[in-house]
Amino acid sequence: MNKFDYDVVVIGSGPSGIGAATALVKAGVKNIVVFERETRIGGIPRHTNHPSFGLLVFKRPMSGPKFIKCLLRQCPGVHFETTTTVVAVKRNGQLDLATLDGLKTIRARHIIIATGARETPRHGRLISGLRPRGIITTGALQQFVNTIKLYPFLKPVIVGTELVSFSAIWTLRAAGIKPVAMIEKNSRITAYRPAALFARLLGVPIYYNTIVADIGDMFDTRKIEILNANSESRTLACDSIIFSGNFVGENSLAHEGHLKLNSKTRIPKVDQNWLSSDLQISVVGNATHPADMGDQCYIEGKSAGVAVAAILQQGQTITDTVEVQHDEGIRLTTPSIVRIPKLGRTHFDLCMHVTKPYTGIIEIRFGDDIAYRRLHRCMPARRVRLKNISLNNSDLNDQAEIHISLKSRSRKHSDKLPGH
Ligand SMILES: Cc1cc2nc3c(=O)[nH]c(=O)nc-3n(C[C@H](O)[C@H](O)[C@H](O)COP(=O)(O)OP(=O)(O)OC[C@H]3O[C@@H](n4cnc5c(N)ncnc54)[C@H](O)[C@@H]3O)c2cc1C
Repeated sequence: MNKFDYDVVVIGSGPSGIGAATALVKAGVKNIVVFERETRIGGIPRHTNHPSFGLLVFKRPMSGPKFIKCLLRQCPGVHFETTTTVVAVKRNGQLDLATLDGLKTIRARHIIIATGARETPRHGRLISGLRPRGIITTGALQQFVNTIKLYPFLKPVIVGTELVSFSAIWTLRAAGIKPVAMIEKNSRITAYRPAALFARLLGVPIYYNTIVADIGDMFDTRKIEILNANSESRTLACDSIIFSGNFVGENSLAHEGHLKLNSKTRIPKVDQNWLSSDLQISVVGNATHPADMGDQCYIEGKSAGVAVAAILQQGQTITDTVEVQHDEGIRLTTPSIVRIPKLGRTHFDLCMHVTKPYTGIIEIRFGDDIAYRRLHRCMPARRVRLKNISLNNSDLNDQAEIHISLKSRSRKHSDKLPGH
């Protein structure tokens, strides 16, 4: 038996996993497998029927299933194994799998974790009340409606106003169901402002500065109590609640394993090539930045695949590792560590998400040097990309850290941005 069963194991067949596998095959790496716990390949897009995919990769909008079909055409020869859940990722490339034939242990020269993101369900939002039926997430709604044609309710309330919350309206509309309302804890929607117009055109009111205070009775979600910023409560008659957005990385494998995590976000630390603290393991896609668009995840998966192919074919470069530190208004960055080669420079793009609307200069300092400085307009739940950062190993000393600062704050201004 070979020391390794596979050159590369990819965990997850969403856009980032498919992207990584495609790049590996194109680079000539042969012995690859993609494990997928579901019965079908494709990750989130497989049950997202509206045309919110394809613009970056294929220059035209397409539905999720069509997007996956087109991506798969670009990676012939990749071997997918569905109904196979990776239940543990260990040192030295070892993985434990739950398959239809039972538990198995295998080894790979490299592992790419591409397990995606999920929405925060009700229990993660600490909302009081009983636990009646009819409380789901947008992801579950899309699976009910688009995959098994099951319409479990008629009068839902949607909590959240991210892009995915408007996807929920779209999905419900296709099923002939009109939501009772949308609930938003802030004074504006999280998605682009025109999305609010879409809700208004469909006659769906949005309650701003409002939270869900209490939920229904034991058997059905017949009503919920909502509370606004002035502590005025109101009852909404409804038969279900869809908790949308507020994404978290699907990182249970990393949490149970040995990978180093960011202490605040619990996201595995990854460098500019998506390599984790264990150089035999990459983590890519929405597992590292919950949650960006499918096209972005596919492109990123391809870059991670190229990097892994280079390591397998040419070996690891010796590097120094520096942590990325940042101001409080920044929720997360990818990469969260940077590996700088002993000789020469490293060039990379850095993606980040903010916690609140922000317009101003974003500056990256590396030791005493300013490595990046530009004006940005940032909104929560949207990726901000800082391009062409270049760091030199000769600037590295004991004190050197990479620090990202938000230099000036202007929430008023950001509220007035065109197109937001
Ligand atoms: C409800 C919802 C709606 C969305 N709608 C849109 C949209 O309309 N447009 C858009 O661009 N983006 C949308 N997104 C963002 C979406 O996450 C990205 O489009 C994209 O799917 C992310 O790709 P990914 O490969 O990182 O993860 P995913 O697509 O989530 O794929 C991860 C895959 O890993 C598998 N997996 C997880 N753990 C294991 C394991 N232990 N073993 C084996 N397999 C495993 C999962 O089953 C899944 O198939 C949505 C996200 C959600 C949650």
